[in-house]
Amino acid sequence: MPIYYGLGYGIDTSYLLLVAVSLLLGVATQGYINRTYKTWLRVPSDGRSGSEVARTMLDASGCSSVGIRSTPGTLSDHYDPRDNNLYLSRDNLSGGSVASVAVACHEAGHAVQRAQGYAFMRFRQALVPVVNFTQNVWMLVFILGVAMNLAGMQTLAIALFAFSVLFQLVTLPVELDASSRAVAFIESSGMGEVNVRGARKVLTAAALTYVAAALTSILQLLYLLGRTSNSRE
Ligand SMILES: [Zn+2]
Repeated sequence: MPIYYGLGYGIDTSYLLLVAVSLLLGVATQGYINRTYKTWLRVPSDGRSGSEVARTMLDASGCSSVGIRSTPGTLSDHYDPRDNNLYLSRDNLSGGSVASVAVACHEAGHAVQRAQGYAFMRFRQALVPVVNFTQNVWMLVFILGVAMNLAGMQTLAIALFAFSVLFQLVTLPVELDASSRAVAFIESSGMGEVNVRGARKVLTAAALTYVAAALTSILQLLYLLGRTSNSRE
């Protein structure tokens, strides 16, 4: 049964379901990564900090020119391909825990991907400017399409939104590959079983947040497709 709100556009129950599922997935996966990360943050590594192990991994992979810098926040760690630096949060930069090493090596994995021209990384980077544009305009185009009752405009909006879905999907292999590079390095560096096990747990929990984001965007795309095909009937 449709529910209507102030502006007069219909919000049906499937939309409410979509919002609820997206929120639930987001909260559940975010909670899981936070708990897993906190748990392994308390387990010491082999005495080395995240940045020290990441440095060793980078040097061993021919990425000596990649810098390691600090960034504020918690789990705000990332690799920036524009300046070819790893940005690690304080706990992971100087902390000597299993979690710090896992996250720092995951980011180093992205730098190695770039150095080796990993195909999904290159594709993802090529999509960045496109998605920066499409994610800003698709909603406006869609609302105008609904307001003016132009099916073509709604289809265009959905095509623009599809780039965001594609971006989320391409992000998955990039993230999983960076994690498997990190675990492989930790395993080969002889840091001990606890470091390998912890890295797997932390990085799997992190991967679930990307899976949830991809699922959410696919659901949103399906909803938009269903909505426009219904409105044509
Ligand atoms: Zn990553």
